[in-house]
Amino acid sequence: MIFLAQEYYVGKEINMILRVLVVGPIMENTYILGSENSGDCVVIDPGGEPDKVLEEVDSLGLKVGMILNTHGHGDHTGGVAGIKEVTGATYGINMNDAPMLKSDNSWISSIVPGYQIPPDPDINVSHEDVLEVGDISLKVIATPGHTPGGVCYYTNGLLFTGDTLFQGSIGRFDLAGGNGRLLIQNILSRLMTLPPDTKVYPGHGPESTVGQEKLTNPFLLG
Ligand SMILES: [Zn+2]
Repeated sequence: MIFLAQEYYVGKEINMILRVLVVGPIMENTYILGSENSGDCVVIDPGGEPDKVLEEVDSLGLKVGMILNTHGHGDHTGGVAGIKEVTGATYGINMNDAPMLKSDNSWISSIVPGYQIPPDPDINVSHEDVLEVGDISLKVIATPGHTPGGVCYYTNGLLFTGDTLFQGSIGRFDLAGGNGRLLIQNILSRLMTLPPDTKVYPGHGPESTVGQEKLTNPFLLG
């Protein structure tokens, strides 16, 4: 049980279901975040293998209401089209990363099973938006730096960081649109200010907590 100060509550406190599926050879983490109460779920960063994600959603008895991307890189977006086709779920990403959805991802599409060019987004997710899916509420925290439209998603005690923050590391900032100074500044001011026991679920690799990263992440130590 995570205790949260009032200001860190987003929507209702509900019983969450959380599954991570590692997809493709780049070992990208796809998260299924569901509500035990309403049976709704959000899929965060389906990088590929949409059939595998849909099978898992089915086996949990959930219904996909929304598909969200933390950013526009192909290893995070390749499964969006396949899941949207079947579920009709609303698809959201920050508009600053929308142009890269249509860029040439042929190197990724050739290695990630089930990769398809993502559809046009239905919604633009912006800093401090609160997204509602059934009784799940997710707050958008903009953290540009890995990409111009990079965001994290926060719900009570859980933070999905994409390629912004990893256990013991941060995202690359040498790719197109990257900015290292901005990335670190955003992590420090917008993520490290969350309660220390907030769980961090990154786009690659194992989970962590805000407190652990604050104390041990070499990129964040003064
Ligand atoms: Zn990335």
